[in-house]
This record gives sequence, C-alpha cells and structure tokens, in this order.
Amino acid sequence: MRKVNKNFSVLALRKRQVAYETDLLNNKESKQSHWSNIKTACMDELVGLYHSKCAYCETKIYQSDNTIEHYRPKAKAKYYWLAHEWTNFLLCCPNCQDDKKGKGSKFETENMPNYQAPLLADGKLDYEKCRLDSEYLLAEKPLILNPEIDDPAQYLVLDPENGYLLAKDDNLKAKTTIRIVNLNRENLYSRRLQIVEDIFERTYWQYEVFVEQKLPDPLNLAIKTVKKEIQKKAESPITEYSFVWRYLAENFENILTKN
Ligand SMILES: [Zn+2]
Repeated sequence: MRKVNKNFSVLALRKRQVAYETDLLNNKESKQSHWSNIKTACMDELVGLYHSKCAYCETKIYQSDNTIEHYRPKAKAKYYWLAHEWTNFLLCCPNCQDDKKGKGSKFETENMPNYQAPLLADGKLDYEKCRLDSEYLLAEKPLILNPEIDDPAQYLVLDPENGYLLAKDDNLKAKTTIRIVNLNRENLYSRRLQIVEDIFERTYWQYEVFVEQKLPDPLNLAIKTVKKEIQKKAESPITEYSFVWRYLAENFENILTKN
C-alpha cells in the first residue's frame, strides 16, 4: 500500500451526483445507467492516480480488470448513499475486490457504524458529511486502511524473511486491514519475497564485480550502489509493490547484516 494524494472535491462529478440523488435515496441503490455514467467519469482519473495499481495490494491491474472499489460498501442496508461518492472510490484489483479472496464488500469500524444517510433540512444529501474525511464518517474509526487518508507506512512493516506484511506495534487498524483485505495471500507474499531475494542476489553480484575490479572496500561500495537503485524504485509511484522497495530503502543495511 502506498499513500495517494487525491483531490477530494471534483465539482463536475458532484453535479452528476446531485442529478441522480433522488433516485439513489429512493431506491437505496445505484441505477445501472447512473453507475455507468459515474464510473466513466471517474475511471481515467483513478487509473492515473494509482498508476494502474491496486489501492490495497499494489499489484498492476490489466486495463480490462480495472474495477472501482467502494471503500465503504454500497449495500442497501449499509452505505448506499455513498454509492456515487468520489471519495469512497479506490482503484482495486479483482482479488482484493473478491469477497472470498480479499476485502470485497467487507468493512469494520471501531465505533458503531453510521449507516444513516446524512440529510440536510430539505431532505437532500449533506455532501460535506459524505466526504470520507468528514468528522461524521471519521467518527466511526474505520479499521481498514485507506491510502487516500492514512499513510500505510505508519501502520505496516515488511518481514523480509517471508514477504509477509505485519502490523507496526501490533496496531489494530493494521492487523484488521491485513486480515480483511487478505494482504498475505500467497501470490502477494511470494512476490514481495522475490523482490527481497533478487536484491540480495543483485548486491552479491555487484560485490563480485567490484572485487574483480580490485576496488577498495567492495562490499560497502556494492551496498551503496544497490541502495541507490532501491531508493529510485521506492520513490517512483509507478513501481509495483513500492511498499517493499521503500521498506528495503530504509532498512537495507539491517536486513543485510541479519542475512
Ligand atoms: Zn489488490
């Protein structure tokens, strides 16, 4: 997971939302035609914002698999009133959106969930309260990390031994996210571990090259060279699993000494 800076006020989209509001409030679900319009209006921006990577697991998504995830589930009995809400949309891979393999429509909060649609005196939706960064919604204390609101690096750490993500300081929100989104499923931990192993190999290879060139202090030189490459990868938002690269950039020497 990687922090993403999203513009929460997109006025063109809000206009569309307002036009469909009566239908949404009456039927407690989005009409297919309305949803298609909203989806078309948002998809390109989301794909650009996330560089075609899943908001939760950072796996690259094929164009045909692009899906919009409702962070708070849009089910009739839950947050149906957030079905068209831009701040409730994340770009998501098919696995994370699957109810069995990933988060799907699950959601957990520390406080009582607030399923009541926030209405103004005239019966219209209070859009200020529909924003995911509003006091109204933050008061629920969601237990799933949202990369547009939380900085995942404050919550998650990598176990370089097996590629697992762990909760920093046993944090409840981090633990719940890992469990609900299933962030340690096999295809994820194995790909994270592969990155770590490739970096070890790369460092060793570089070390041997420097030894052959009879350069002074070849090990330190190799570490410095590879670390620069890791930092470049970690900083780039397009890097798949950039969380792993970032963790390596910050802990490279420590991990190397342990191995
Ligand atoms: Zn995913």
